[in-house]
Amino acid sequence: AKQEGGNCYRFYDSAQDGANASKLNIENDLRKALDKGEFIIHYQPKVDLCSGEITGLEALVRWQHPERGLVPPLEFIPVAEETGLIVPLGKWVLEEACRQMKQWHERGYAKLGIAVNFSSRQFRDKNMVSHVARTLQLSGLDPECLEIELTESIMQNVKESLVILSELKQLGVHISIDDFGTGYSSLSYLKHLPIDTLKVDKSFVDDIALSPKDEAIIRTIVDMGNHLQLNIVAEGVENKQQAQALMACRCKIGQGYYFSKPLPHNEVELLFRNVYLN
Ligand code: C2E
Ligand code: CA
Ligand code: CA
Ligand code: CA
Repeated sequence: AKQEGGNCYRFYDSAQDGANASKLNIENDLRKALDKGEFIIHYQPKVDLCSGEITGLEALVRWQHPERGLVPPLEFIPVAEETGLIVPLGKWVLEEACRQMKQWHERGYAKLGIAVNFSSRQFRDKNMVSHVARTLQLSGLDPECLEIELTESIMQNVKESLVILSELKQLGVHISIDDFGTGYSSLSYLKHLPIDTLKVDKSFVDDIALSPKDEAIIRTIVDMGNHLQLNIVAEGVENKQQAQALMACRCKIGQGYYFSKPLPHNEVELLFRNVYLN
């Protein structure tokens, strides 16, 4: 493991480390971490750009490692995907996120939705839909309040994806396309698949206030979304200029550090209070 700047360590991601460490060791580490309950979820709000109200939360997993501190997902999700451990890890994230959101609903907070990220390996797992159904049932969360975020990579097989997405839609959950615009995917899938929301990738938001091209792209995605009855969420909003430029493009929802970083559950509750108790 080599130390990075800040308080996190990089230990599984580089080609050298990854190739040298045996997969079995890494797999064991992740499996033990799962057994020991070392994973935690941080929640990042999605915000109404006009009113500032929270419209939903996204669950983002972290590894609370006893020695290494808080390990960000990009340092273990790729290995979890390679080893297949993303399936049990993803199940835990889904169960915990649904449980937590249901608890917030029961405690009287606004009935927000919770978005959970699924990698394509999780998406194609043959028990996925039944696990989602069971998790909704066990948690008691209203299916309308669960949103599953998928990347365009699932569009490599539109026929297969249509079958799975239709089953998910029958449960009543929402489907979002994450990192929209970066997947080198044809737009034709939007015609065929039951998708509710496009999350415009941060790379288009970064320079929206400076670059007429990025602005034109976002404006066009928002217009397309209106015509196709898709919600549009802008990812990675970091400052007021970007938020204003997004509103000028009639984008309604944003997510990013400008509003809030992903936060542990107790800190999210403080945000709820700030926004809703007036
Ligand atoms: P993502 O789904 O695209 O999530 C957005 C990432 O951007 C998050 O990083 C978030 O913290 C970060 N972010 C949000 N707003 C801003 C901003 O204004 N500026 C910048 N620079 N970054 C911002 P995070 O939490 O490190 O997650 C990285 C990726 O790991 C996620 O990207 C997602 O692909 C994956 N991931 C996280 N949790 C899970 C999970 O439970 N399951 C799966 N399969 N993947 C996950
Ligand atoms: Ca996401
Ligand atoms: Ca994203
Ligand atoms: Ca991403």
